[in-house]
Amino acid sequence: PASQPPVDTVIHRRQTRPVRVGNITIGGGYPVVVQSMINEDTMDIEGSVASIRRLHEMGCEIVRVTVPSVGHAKAVGEIKQKLAATYQPVPLVADVHHNGMKIALEVAKHVDKVRINPGLYVFEKPKSDRSEYTDTEFQEIGEKIRETLKPLVISLRDQGKAMRIGVNHGSLAERMLFTYGDTPEGMVESALEFIRICESLDFQNLVISLKASRVPVMLAAYRLMAKRMDDLGMDYPLHLGVTEAGDGEYGRIKSTAGIATLLADGIGDTIRVSLTEAPEKEIPVCYSILQALGLRKTMVEYVACPSCGRTLFNLEEVLHKVREATKHLTGLDIAVMGCIVNGPGEMADADYGYVGKQPGYISLYRGREEIKKVPQDQGVQELINLIKGDGRWVDP
Ligand code: SF4
Repeated sequence: PASQPPVDTVIHRRQTRPVRVGNITIGGGYPVVVQSMINEDTMDIEGSVASIRRLHEMGCEIVRVTVPSVGHAKAVGEIKQKLAATYQPVPLVADVHHNGMKIALEVAKHVDKVRINPGLYVFEKPKSDRSEYTDTEFQEIGEKIRETLKPLVISLRDQGKAMRIGVNHGSLAERMLFTYGDTPEGMVESALEFIRICESLDFQNLVISLKASRVPVMLAAYRLMAKRMDDLGMDYPLHLGVTEAGDGEYGRIKSTAGIATLLADGIGDTIRVSLTEAPEKEIPVCYSILQALGLRKTMVEYVACPSCGRTLFNLEEVLHKVREATKHLTGLDIAVMGCIVNGPGEMADADYGYVGKQPGYISLYRGREEIKKVPQDQGVQELINLIKGDGRWVDP
């Protein structure tokens, strides 16, 4: 009925606080940030610098490096300096596994953000069951965690740097496992415990992640976290990812299933697609997810029909040619359709259309308006001419 308001097709992102990581901001309404991680040994300064640079040039906005020892932490300092001297400062995140506070404190001097995993802050041989701990013992462990974390929190706070509290389904602290089981609730409580420690030290430059390798677990954890934070009046940005997604087509689909589902609900401020492939391969997947959802537009949007018995030319081949000729024209929407059977509306209001007209001929469209009919073998060149004539062409 005419009285009903139109259905909203825009994704409304959950409101989060802005967290600065070098020259990039996560959350606060800024575009969803793309990140990845190099797989070089951090001690290999030259190799790491080259790899970070390669990723950054491809559009990776924040790069993570692993820091398993104090030596590695010092190497990160050299990497950072070398990047600034030979390329440009790239926002770096250090992944500090186990509760190596010395490592974290050293690397905090060099990077823009430190990622810690709450599940690794374990202080004694864990007992096998919650009932073996007295309540006091249980609380004392919480206090120990706070004392351990404190110097890092203060260092990051005083330097205006950030921290990611990165909970992993696969490495929950035993206390959380006893209390909540191996569940999204356990993951969320684990993150909340660390958030509260940071807040008690007046530090709020936090980004939270709750990754799991099973998509339904990851979805439940992030949704619960967003709800719990909303209920508690917390507005920390979320870093989305599916861990151990694997490789190839299924790795991409699995990552997309998890990341895009949450983004479509407005949850998530930065993403990483974890593939068992060269990290450069992750970046186009991230940007494709963001573009498909209309969250960022970094490439030409192609609308193309799947082709059928009515198709008047080799659609796959023509789409390929059109893409090769126009893929550098960021911001445009171009449709390639086998025929105009259902009218130009089927082109999803693309800026330009290349449409089968009759055998050997195609029609070029500007929006919904048919501009001219041309022989098919001149189609791509005529499309370029049309875009040029409209002043929307730039040379590749
Ligand atoms: Fe077939 Fe035409 Fe539809 Fe393409 S646009 S799938 S050619 S009917």
